[in-house]
Amino acid sequence: MASQEIETLTVALSRLPGLGPRSARRAVLWLIKRRETALVQLLDALAKVRDTLVECDTCGNVDTTNPCGICTDPRRDARSICVVEEVADLWALDRAKLFTGRYHVLGGRLSALDGVRPEDLTIDRLLHRIEEGGIDEVLLAMNATLEGQTTAHYIAERLENYPVRVTQLAHGLPVGGELDYLDEGTLAQAIRARRPLG
Ligand SMILES: [Zn+2]
Repeated sequence: MASQEIETLTVALSRLPGLGPRSARRAVLWLIKRRETALVQLLDALAKVRDTLVECDTCGNVDTTNPCGICTDPRRDARSICVVEEVADLWALDRAKLFTGRYHVLGGRLSALDGVRPEDLTIDRLLHRIEEGGIDEVLLAMNATLEGQTTAHYIAERLENYPVRVTQLAHGLPVGGELDYLDEGTLAQAIRARRPLG
C-alpha cells in the first residue's frame, strides 16, 4: 500500500483535467524517481504561479497584474471586446496577433448536461462593462461546438438592446485544411458561410 503522502498527491493530481487516478499515480511515481530534475522544478514553477499570478477583475485573464497587461495596454482598442470561453482561448487568439482589442473570459460555456447556467458565467460582468460605455463592438469567439454556439446565441440575445455591433468568428475551412480530412460539421459550416468569389 502506498504511503498517505503519495495517496494525497495522487488524489490531488487526479483532479487535473485529463488525468485519471491511474495516470495520476504514474505521474507521482515518475516525479519521485526524478526528484532533482523534475520534482524540484515543478515545485518551483507551482510556487511561482501561486505567488505571482492573479485573475484580472475586468476581463478574467490570468496575469501577474490586476488589471491585466491587456486591459491596461494603451495601444489596444478599448472599443472592441472579444468574448471567449476560457483563458486558454484568449491566449490562443492573442498569439495570432490579429485582434487588437480587449477580451472578456466567460469562464466556460452554457451546458444543460453539465448544469452550467448563465449566472455561472461572467455574462453580467460583460454587460456591466458595456453599460459603462465606450464599447462599439462585441466579437463572440465561442468554440464551434453546439454548446459554444448556444452560448453565443444567448449572449447575442442579451446584447440586443445595447448600442453595440455584435460580430462572430467566421467558421470555415482551416488554413491548409484539405476537404478530405475535415469533419462534416466544418464542411457544412463552410458551405453555409460561402461567399462570392473575388
Ligand atoms: Zn484584463
